[in-house]
Amino acid sequence: MGTSGNFSAVLSRDPLRLAITVSGIDKGLLSVDQIVEIDERGKVLAGSGKPSAESSLHIAIARARGAGAVLHTHSIWSTILSDNAPETGLAIEGYEMLKGLDGVQTHDHREWLPILDNTQDWAAAVPQVEAILAQQRDAHAFLIRRHGLYTWGRDLADAKRQVEILEFLFEVMGRKRGMTWQP
Ligand SMILES: [Zn+2]
Repeated sequence: MGTSGNFSAVLSRDPLRLAITVSGIDKGLLSVDQIVEIDERGKVLAGSGKPSAESSLHIAIARARGAGAVLHTHSIWSTILSDNAPETGLAIEGYEMLKGLDGVQTHDHREWLPILDNTQDWAAAVPQVEAILAQQRDAHAFLIRRHGLYTWGRDLADAKRQVEILEFLFEVMGRKRGMTWQP
């Protein structure tokens, strides 16, 4: 929606190089010149434009998870659920669609999505993100409160599949809760 979200893909692992969307653009109208190459510190090596304000998170995830692609999206359901979830995370369990997450073989799975508080200074938040990724080794994604989702995969197709799976599950949980919650 709008110019929200940002996408990246790993171009090389050593040294780490990412292709990442520049900030402030409509992702539905994305063109080649709106993607820049950055190094492991977020410095632009090729292309023009300002890389996403959240580049440091993409770099941290690519490093910690060995991901080939990182996708960050804003959606209504991830915003609502991260707002109403308890302090530290959101549990999703018992749904068939969980099998769309990398390595999950059965609906009998409990996915724990850590929730970070939002900030406008992501460079400063990197140590916290790295700590969460280290502690929650099985997590396929994390949420930023009242903001959106981060997930990743071996490649873009893998990461996109996880966005779709998680968004499906968020909507299911949000709608179900809406039926039972009292105002
Ligand atoms: Zn965002």
